[in-house]
Amino acid sequence: MNATQQRLTVVVAARNEAEALPKLHPRLDAALRRLHGIDGRVLYVDDGSTDATWAVMQRLAQADARVSLLKLSRNFGKELALTAGLDQVDEGAVLILDADGQDPPELIPQFVDKWREGYDDVHGTRIERDGEGWVKRATAHAFYRVIGRLSKTPIPADTGDFRLLSPRALAALKQLRERHRFMKGLFGWVGFNQVAIPYHREARLAGHSKFGLWKLWNFALEGITSFSTAPLRVATYLGVLTALLAFAYAVYIVVKALLWGDPVAGWPTMMVVILFLGGIQLVALGLIGEYLGRLYEEAKQRPLYLVDVWQPAAGRVSLPHPGTEEDGHAHGAAAVGGEGA
Ligand code: UDP
Ligand code: MG
Repeated sequence: MNATQQRLTVVVAARNEAEALPKLHPRLDAALRRLHGIDGRVLYVDDGSTDATWAVMQRLAQADARVSLLKLSRNFGKELALTAGLDQVDEGAVLILDADGQDPPELIPQFVDKWREGYDDVHGTRIERDGEGWVKRATAHAFYRVIGRLSKTPIPADTGDFRLLSPRALAALKQLRERHRFMKGLFGWVGFNQVAIPYHREARLAGHSKFGLWKLWNFALEGITSFSTAPLRVATYLGVLTALLAFAYAVYIVVKALLWGDPVAGWPTMMVVILFLGGIQLVALGLIGEYLGRLYEEAKQRPLYLVDVWQPAAGRVSLPHPGTEEDGHAHGAAAVGGEGA
């Protein structure tokens, strides 16, 4: 780490948090003051609030020169609001925090310590959740298990968006421009040195959660379809299974008809044809699914990989690896990828 003051921007996405923000800000302010040698900033993103959130934010910005504001033209949802906020940060590290105080700002110094130890992605892992019903806990638990199995990208369980990203992790994240943004997965995709900080998730300061069960269900679907093409494979497996069963059954009814005849003329032939075609159709759909899955992966235009360290043989002049994109620092988030990277 260099000697000059490093910047840390706390990005807070808020929708209708007029009541919570005035309670959150003093705590955030106190936490930032406790950091030594860090230029702490705050960026509030108003995600199309319909209450006094924007006015509250402006008041906070007037009273505190470290606060910047961003207002989206309408409600885009938390994932996009966060993306918009992160895009505005062009220097230093970022820390993502919920506006409702569920992620305690008092933990920020702990996150920063880990960053100083050299971690790129310091994320809060919830050990307890206050003020959330058992349905939400149970569904959240199940969701993390399912996505953990289906996705090839490691997605830490019980980890929300409460996290600190080092400058190079942020630079890497900014290269992921896919439209369907499941942030938890994107953070996981970036990789680098990750560490979890267990914490107690508090109850909301005010207001109520914007994520009802229906929204959570859609969110889960979004996550699974963004980070896995497993559902597309279902047709292939069903198809192969049906085709095999149909074949076995076909052999059985044909042999039966040949040996003893069949009381209903034409029935064996018809059954065999229907079953077999059904199986073939499902297999064909599955095949299309496979290609669709590949097309989908390509369309996301993610970098192919990110480099953590590139260490050329001793005594040789260090040159960036052909095709890599050095971000100016020693081992920056170098990426090689498709045209977009
Ligand atoms: N949020 C947002 N846009 C939305 C919904 C929520 O920016 O469309 C913000 C919200 O203001 C809060 C954070 O995302 O700061 C988490 O939302 P919430 O507390 O409702 O979710 P939960 O903690 O229940 O998962
Ligand atoms: Mg909340």
